[in-house]
Amino acid sequence: AGGASDKIDYVFKVVLIGDSAVGKSQILARFARNEFALDSKATIGVEFQTRTLVIQHKSVKAQIWDTAGQERYRAVTSAYYRGAVGAMLVYDITRSQTFDHIPRWLEELRSHADRNIMIMLVGNKTDLKDQRAVTTEAALEFAQKENLFFLETSALEATNVENAFQTLLAEIFNIVN
Ligand code: GDP
Ligand code: MG
Repeated sequence: AGGASDKIDYVFKVVLIGDSAVGKSQILARFARNEFALDSKATIGVEFQTRTLVIQHKSVKAQIWDTAGQERYRAVTSAYYRGAVGAMLVYDITRSQTFDHIPRWLEELRSHADRNIMIMLVGNKTDLKDQRAVTTEAALEFAQKENLFFLETSALEATNVENAFQTLLAEIFNIVN
C-alpha cells in the first residue's frame, strides 16, 4: 500500500482571473476533466480543481482555483491569491472590453500575489473567428511589454488549453528546481 506511484512531489496553486464570462470555468473544466458546457452557470463559491501531471519525472499536482463570480464586484480577496505560484489572466478575443481590463487585473495580481508569480495571458474563444475583436498582435505586444507568457485558446475546441497549463506549470517547475 502507498507505493511510490502515489507520491506527490509538488503542489502548485494556480489562480484563474479575468472578467466575467471570458471562459475561465470552461478552461478549467477542459483542463481538469476534459469537459465543456455551452450553458455554464456563473460559478458559485470559491472552488478549485486538481490534476496531477508528470514534469521531468516528478509528480506535480496542479491545484487550479476559479473565481466565484466575484469578478463583477472586483471582490476577489487576498485569500484567493495566497500561495499562488501561477496565474492565468483570461480575456475573450470577441470582447475588447475584457482585454482593456487586463491591466487592472494585472495590477490587482501584482498587489496581492507573490512577486515571483508566473503569469500566462490567455485570449480565449478563438473558435469564434468571425467575431474576433482583439488582434493576436496587440495581445502579444502587451504580453511582451509586461513579461507575460501568452497563448490564445478555445475551451470549446480544446485548442491550446493543455498547452497553456503545461507551459505555465513547466515554467513554475523550472524556477523551483
Ligand atoms: P467565466 O465567467 O469566465 O467562468 O466564463 P464561463 O466559463 O462560465 O464561460 C462563459 C460563456 O462562454 C459560457 O456560455 C461558455 O460556454 C462560453 N465559452 C467558454 N469558453 C468558450 C470558448 O472557447 N468558445 C466559445 N465559443 N464559448 C466559450
Ligand atoms: Mg466562472
